[in-house]
Amino acid sequence: MKIYNERQQKIAERINPDSTITNWKDWKWQMKNCIKTIEQFEKITGIIFSKDEKIKLNETLEKFPLSITPYYASFIKKNNHKDDPIFKQSFVDPNELIVSDEDHQDPLSEEKDSPVKGVTHRYPDRVLFHVSNTCAMYCRHCTRKRKVGDLDYIPSKEQLIKGIEYIRQTSCVRDVLLSGGDPLMLSDEQLDWLLSELKQISHVEIIRIGTRIPVVLPYRITENLVNILKKYKPLWINTHFNHPREITPSSKEALRMLADGGFPLGNQSVLLAGVNDCPRIMKELVHKLVQNRVRPYYIYQCDLSEGLAHFRTPVGKGIEIMESLIGHTTGFAVPTFVIDAPGGGGKIPIMPNYIISWSTNKVILRNYEGVITTYKEPENYENKFCDRECKNCKLELDIKEGDEIDLLGIERLLSDSNKQINLIPKDNERHKRREF
Ligand SMILES: *Cc1c(COP(=O)(O)O)cnc(C)c1O
Repeated sequence: MKIYNERQQKIAERINPDSTITNWKDWKWQMKNCIKTIEQFEKITGIIFSKDEKIKLNETLEKFPLSITPYYASFIKKNNHKDDPIFKQSFVDPNELIVSDEDHQDPLSEEKDSPVKGVTHRYPDRVLFHVSNTCAMYCRHCTRKRKVGDLDYIPSKEQLIKGIEYIRQTSCVRDVLLSGGDPLMLSDEQLDWLLSELKQISHVEIIRIGTRIPVVLPYRITENLVNILKKYKPLWINTHFNHPREITPSSKEALRMLADGGFPLGNQSVLLAGVNDCPRIMKELVHKLVQNRVRPYYIYQCDLSEGLAHFRTPVGKGIEIMESLIGHTTGFAVPTFVIDAPGGGGKIPIMPNYIISWSTNKVILRNYEGVITTYKEPENYENKFCDRECKNCKLELDIKEGDEIDLLGIERLLSDSNKQINLIPKDNERHKRREF
């Protein structure tokens, strides 16, 4: 029976000679037949490793396990697999065992900022809720790599209830980001239950799902799933394409179903050496994404997690990519390049410099072409003192009592009503000396 393409047909037959296209497109069949060992990989892809290579690969596997969906594996180019972005993102590399000085096990301090197991509360108004500890495919560049595989499970209902309870009792949380693992590894029934619980919390204004499913297991996006998700709008879905070759007929179909279902779609990519550290590849990727109604959201600088040293690029590579996108292509096709600050500082946006100089009445700017221009500032802008008493303000900002009163971080330094002039790190030596 004819499957999508010859290669997929061959792989399906190697898994089971009686395989049909119905099997191939069944996400549970794909999950059941995930490639977990070097031998399975060899058998299924026809790519063969030497004895020495296999020893090293298996050593690496012991620390960082392997799982590739037959679907994703079907896009590996057999003849040039070593340079293949699909291969590099999915297949073990002995370089993962290199531990560098800057590596951390939990570089983003997700556990330190966790009030209850599974919830990371870092920002004022939103939380990350880890609702699954498993993924269809184990990305080699996973930031939570040390955890992958050893705890392959969906958290118990009791644990999820504790997370929901935290959100219910924390009224500043207006945005809940479901993450994992991959939230779409939950069954339809589990998702339905979880989303309905969150939906009932009145201060939760939006729910987001972060998922790599459209990339690695697009058949998980079924009519039934879309119909369940539809009940919980506004629901935003963020996916994770890193390379234009991941946009295939099947993933396009999954994206079409989600977009037609009415979910705003975003994408976050990770900048990976040897995979997408190229302005032309990134431009091609963002163009393909917007063609499929996906708005590029973030490009991440690769985290400082253990086992990722070989994927890291200098920060300058990301700036170079941003330089080649901003102005050169559709504004909404341009993602924000961010570094997720080690130690839990959150995402910090990084941009090329466009402000060249500044005086009291002029800003000197340059554009993407290198044209230098002058923006003359208004001469008679009356800077009104803002005491944050919005009731007395002519701007008529219609907000709830008490909202926006607390000033946080740099915002506090910029405000008129707060007298603070600096933010000083707790362990600043110079200030410690002053205490004597
Ligand atoms: C990324 C992240 C979020 C969401 O950040 P946005 O910039 O709003 O997309 C929230 N919590 C944590 C811990 C995160 O890492």
